[in-house]
Amino acid sequence: MKDVLTYDDVVAIEGFRIQKGINIHPKGKSYTVLLMSVGENSPYNDGFDESGEILSYEGEDISIRRDVRDDHNLKPKKVDQPMFTKKGNLTNNGQLYMAAEDFKFKRRDNAESVRVYEKISPNVWSDKGWFDLVDVDFVYSKIEGRKVFKYKLHAKGSNSVTPEEKEEFEFSRRIPTIIKQKVWERDQGKCVDCGSTNDLHFDHIIPFSKGGSSSDLRNVQLLCSKHNLSKSDKIQ
Ligand SMILES: [Zn+2]
Repeated sequence: MKDVLTYDDVVAIEGFRIQKGINIHPKGKSYTVLLMSVGENSPYNDGFDESGEILSYEGEDISIRRDVRDDHNLKPKKVDQPMFTKKGNLTNNGQLYMAAEDFKFKRRDNAESVRVYEKISPNVWSDKGWFDLVDVDFVYSKIEGRKVFKYKLHAKGSNSVTPEEKEEFEFSRRIPTIIKQKVWERDQGKCVDCGSTNDLHFDHIIPFSKGGSSSDLRNVQLLCSKHNLSKSDKIQ
């Protein structure tokens, strides 16, 4: 499994060009694809808890293309996130809200399956793995001064992914994005051992299991899969 993906890798995996945050059952799929970006300038307050197992994902603002075109006074960050379109249909927010509520109140057996990607920079993406949409709040946010959707997603247990995949996803989720961005810039998108730009992984210099930090820039480096593997052999 690749730790660092290009945009084309993501397109190859999902079979469509992801442009927006919420993609519900795209191309007839049975799951939803969410795109998160948590950098300093990112538009939404998405984030993982410390365990990396629980993701809080914010809903979508009103559409600049549709809503602001009709009313130039509307400021997307100043108005409540919409549950309905003007025609009265559910927005993406509304559809996910219903999916989460239906699961919570046992009107459906399984939670909505969600695949999450994180955009680190326009051509550096990270696969966050598979989640269940388990809860939602539509609440007034004091920080934002408006009502926003807050979706709660749980990383899927080992019954839905292989143990190796689960471990890789856990590993990947542990390093904060801001650290990944800085390491990527510092190591110039190349393996620090051989300069390869293929199949790169974020590596803990002192392993996480031996107390190495995930949030200290000095303890994280880029390695190609070959050097990543040869290193883990040595440690064992
Ligand atoms: Zn290498």
